[in-house]
Amino acid sequence: MKRRDFLKFVAAIAAGAVGGYLLTRPRIRKADVVVVGGGLAGSTIVKNLKGLDVVVIERGEYYVVGPAKEDIVLGLAQPGEYATRFEKYIRGEAFAVDPGNRLVYTTAGVFQYRYLVLAPGIRLAYEDVSIEPGAKYVNIYDDSNVLSNIGALRNARGRVVIAHPGLPYRCTSAPYEMAFLIKWLNPQAEISVVSGVKEIPAEFVHQISGLGDKVASLMEERGIGFIGGHEVVEVRANELVLDDGDVVKYDSLVWTPPHRGWPWLVEAGLAREGEFGYIRVDDNMRALGWDDIYAVGDVVWHVVKTGWAAFYEALVASAKILEDMGLEAKPPGFLYSEDAVRLTPQEAVRGAKAWWPIYGDILWRNIYGPSRENAEAKYQWMNAMKKIILEAQSLL
Ligand SMILES: Cc1cc2nc3c(=O)[nH]c(=O)nc-3n(C[C@H](O)[C@H](O)[C@H](O)COP(=O)(O)OP(=O)(O)OC[C@H]3O[C@@H](n4cnc5c(N)ncnc54)[C@H](O)[C@@H]3O)c2cc1C
Repeated sequence: MKRRDFLKFVAAIAAGAVGGYLLTRPRIRKADVVVVGGGLAGSTIVKNLKGLDVVVIERGEYYVVGPAKEDIVLGLAQPGEYATRFEKYIRGEAFAVDPGNRLVYTTAGVFQYRYLVLAPGIRLAYEDVSIEPGAKYVNIYDDSNVLSNIGALRNARGRVVIAHPGLPYRCTSAPYEMAFLIKWLNPQAEISVVSGVKEIPAEFVHQISGLGDKVASLMEERGIGFIGGHEVVEVRANELVLDDGDVVKYDSLVWTPPHRGWPWLVEAGLAREGEFGYIRVDDNMRALGWDDIYAVGDVVWHVVKTGWAAFYEALVASAKILEDMGLEAKPPGFLYSEDAVRLTPQEAVRGAKAWWPIYGDILWRNIYGPSRENAEAKYQWMNAMKKIILEAQSLL
């Protein structure tokens, strides 16, 4: 059944008459705050709304810390160090929202909210790329792929290609960090990064990481190749086809398809297809046009898709919800993000910035390193990300 048909179906059930039979209304669970997605953004909301009636709908079984996915496929960490099960969230997948009636439809039932927080992250658009059966690749953005490739790249040799899509995609520096770490593990490997970035959406030109030039010169210094401005259109066994017809051969491939938002959010009128299904928000992180629907984290229409940004966006949203309910709240006053790119586990460069409002100007930015302290800061953040998920669940 299509989502639209399902909505009509549910409306009919609620009206009490389908096919001439009187049916009971489906049980609708009510909550002050319904959060869709228990990742970093959703869990930060839970932590900041302690004491309220909050339910979290989460479709996954476990959470794996974003950057640690690299460590797992490189054999530098075991999944248990940076992954945890979702124990306290309601296991289910949201597939429709009826904003007019404040309802969310999920595979775990129907929920009515006073405030809805959308935090489902990004969708991996595998359907946009032709994949030859038998083609083997590691996708550091896909939990199940990562968990079936534990340590797979520890001994990556020969031609190693790391290909990422155009903007927006999550944590833009992750593919480059993978290149440096593989080079450090296997200096003989012939590594190149294929970037699908052709252009930066005009409103985000000023948001792009200031780390780019530094990373480019470090890549050159370490003999890592770069092919820019070409999307992968076909993944074959041992070769990639780019959108200009060029073929790139590989022995090991790290690849991810385009990152997109969610069709069910477009259907609900909360996201636009022209913005790839991501949600445009106001300065309080509310979906434009709605004062009771918030969006935080990677699902937001923005090129900065990091755990740091997700964390700060969730602080802004939760403060507004508290304020709206007449409770004490302290919004952060700016958004913040940083990228720390490890060159080795002991050395990293780091770019940090603060901006405000969400589609506004950069207030401050800086670049640090390479240094040991930056690598340590990265591991601290990786541990903190896991802790946020654990602490949020302990409150429910
Ligand atoms: C390889 C890699 C490296 C990274 N490196 C860094 C880094 O160094 N620093 C940094 O700050 N960030 C980094 N990130 C980015 C960071 O992990 C994300 O930006 C952050 O997790 C975004 O949080 P989120 O809550 O928006 O999305 P997620 O953490 O992805 O959470 C979304 C959750 O929603 C659930 N969900 C999806 N759809 C539904 C649905 N319909 N119904 C119910 N649940 C749903 C998902 O199962 C998921 O648990 C990295 C990410 C990756 C993949």
